[in-house]
Amino acid sequence: MKNLFLFTLLLLCCTPAGHFKPRQILVITGGHDFEREPFFRMFDEFGDITWKEKMHPLSQGAFSDGEQPFDAVLFYDMPDSVTAAVQEEYTRLLQRGTGVVFLHHALCANPGWPEYERMVGGKYLPAAEERAGRRMPASTYREDVEVRVEIADPGHPVTRGLSDFVLHDEVYGGFITRPDIYPLLRTGHPESSPVIGWAHTYDHSRIVYLQPGHDHRAFDDPRFRRLVRNAIEWVSE
Ligand SMILES: [Zn+2]
Repeated sequence: MKNLFLFTLLLLCCTPAGHFKPRQILVITGGHDFEREPFFRMFDEFGDITWKEKMHPLSQGAFSDGEQPFDAVLFYDMPDSVTAAVQEEYTRLLQRGTGVVFLHHALCANPGWPEYERMVGGKYLPAAEERAGRRMPASTYREDVEVRVEIADPGHPVTRGLSDFVLHDEVYGGFITRPDIYPLLRTGHPESSPVIGWAHTYDHSRIVYLQPGHDHRAFDDPRFRRLVRNAIEWVSE
């Protein structure tokens, strides 16, 4: 009987479905519309993720649940401003070393707060900006395009199990990428910035940004889901 138990345990540990550890995540939304049903169905169908949602406007304690810590926080939000109290919450979150995944339009959040760009590793410019004496034009977007998503580093845990694929999604062009990011995804799409997914660290936290993720055509795509699940796993290790 003991052997049978050990055998079953071994089988469970070695099957692909048992590859991920269960994770409890906090999902931050608000400031931008999205298709709620297919978005949250994606997390439900992971089968090993429990999630809680908090919506803007946020206040003190925004990224915690009492004493209950989350394994990771996933930002799918786009507030156009941030209070000093909520800035402190971001700072505290990253000092704690909680893993963070910024998804799609979260690149465009908090445009007036320079530290947020350093946290994400990039910035969508809502208007033209002067940088180091150079005028950077406003960033652009294009919905309903076929994007070839190229895996920049197939050996990274976030891209594990994936090879290049085509996604029907939305691209952003001309956004800022910080020099300290580690590219995970690229595209040659003419209306997109070339690096569309990256990893980096900020304070004690692992950070992943994934630019794809506009609507159900991404949320339902197994390759996109794999990226999101891998990212949650890696940032919260
Ligand atoms: Zn979008």
